[in-house]
Amino acid sequence: MPTVLIVVGVGALFIIIRFLIGNIPKFEECKDIADKGFVCPNCGKEFSPRWQSLYYKLPSVYTYNVAKLRCPACKERDMCSRKINT
Ligand SMILES: [Zn+2]
Repeated sequence: MPTVLIVVGVGALFIIIRFLIGNIPKFEECKDIADKGFVCPNCGKEFSPRWQSLYYKLPSVYTYNVAKLRCPACKERDMCSRKINT
């Protein structure tokens, strides 16, 4: 195996590991937000989305407390608001 391939391979591995480690706090945040639940604006159903589906929606969750999610009850994709626990 040529040395250059090993070097490139190790380099790519390091980039992937760094990406994963850098994102762990964000993943935890997603799980936390998903656990607290969202409310469907169409049928009022409260549900917990998969945290993976929240990952790219975090900016809108932080800014507006909403995320575009598919409701498991009515299957509508709409802006669901975070359930506010009082
Ligand atoms: Zn619904």
